[in-house]
Amino acid sequence: MNKKSVWGGLLWLAVWVSGESGAAAVWVKSVQWGAGPHPRLMVDFSGVPGYRVINLGSDAPLAIELADTALAGGLAQPPAAHPVAARIGSLPGKAKGSLRLLVETKRNAPHQARMEQWPDHARLTVEWTPSAVPAPAAASTNSARARAKPVHSFVVAIDAGHGGKDTGAIGPGGTLEKNVVMAIARKLAWYVQAEPGMKAVLVRRGDEFVDLRHRAAIARKVRADLFVSIHADAYTDGGVKGSSVYTLSEHGASSEAARWLADSENAALVGGPKLKDKNKLLASVLVDLSKNATLDASDKAAEKVLRELRKDFAVHHDEVQKAEFAVLKSLDVPSMLVETAFISNPEEERNLTNNAHQDRVARSVFRGIRAYCAESRRSAGAAGLRVAEVP
Ligand SMILES: [Zn+2]
Repeated sequence: MNKKSVWGGLLWLAVWVSGESGAAAVWVKSVQWGAGPHPRLMVDFSGVPGYRVINLGSDAPLAIELADTALAGGLAQPPAAHPVAARIGSLPGKAKGSLRLLVETKRNAPHQARMEQWPDHARLTVEWTPSAVPAPAAASTNSARARAKPVHSFVVAIDAGHGGKDTGAIGPGGTLEKNVVMAIARKLAWYVQAEPGMKAVLVRRGDEFVDLRHRAAIARKVRADLFVSIHADAYTDGGVKGSSVYTLSEHGASSEAARWLADSENAALVGGPKLKDKNKLLASVLVDLSKNATLDASDKAAEKVLRELRKDFAVHHDEVQKAEFAVLKSLDVPSMLVETAFISNPEEERNLTNNAHQDRVARSVFRGIRAYCAESRRSAGAAGLRVAEVP
């Protein structure tokens, strides 16, 4: 289905269904629009919500993520003559209890957002500059602003495979996969953490067993921008070697979307356990949009990591592979699984236990992640979107 027509036709439905939220710390009291030379969106709240303005991609609506916030009523749509905004809608946000406002725009225009506070309410104002100067100048204005303002950290959830009672594969020399992948994951986390604007979160911190679905849930909880699972491959033929990078297959993602929608808790998020047919369609369209964007981003990130690995190491598969790994089944966090080498190959097993080799692997994966991070920031800048830290 065409992305634009989906947003155009169904956002008003999204407004309706997300009105049925539970208890929240802050309520959206009203939405007002200002036109003129400085077109504005003003959202009034019952208190001060944590918020951030995020980029969902160059063609996507402007998204405002609000922590512990719910709608008290409907959202007032912008007047037809509004120079920038076309529609406003809402969805459940990425974090539990959060709300995401989506503003569909008629054109790319730089904007600024600010929160003001009074004793009995708070107001978020988003102001656009539609008559932007020519593109190169606008781009430099954006980058100047990016330098001046703190940029939202790009969070990488690093998942060392297996752990605890689950040893993973065992090499011919007795090396346990869970130990070598933990060592590589720690080194990768060090590189990510050392990079300005990036933050690493280790999904498991020691030799502990963590359920596969729980690993994806941890990534979601820390609002990861990317999930990277580190593994070592194994095969009956000890001669097979090289690294591979996997992302979730379309089939795996579709069955996860179906599973998500079948879950009554999720159904409640998009309109109560007994979804009417129209709302079932809406829910599946919204989940599909998120799923497709996530698959695209996963592939982009995985290709960059594979390209860097290929520079330094033999690769087993020359292209990103598709699989239905449970740990990759996040519908909203781009995810990949890196098989660093074959632990079943005696030479690669030795390499995997070598400190300097582990470091080279970690650095290659890091360079790929950094390239993906830079690209997603560039597309955020091109769309005239500002990415701000949650206050
Ligand atoms: Zn493994």
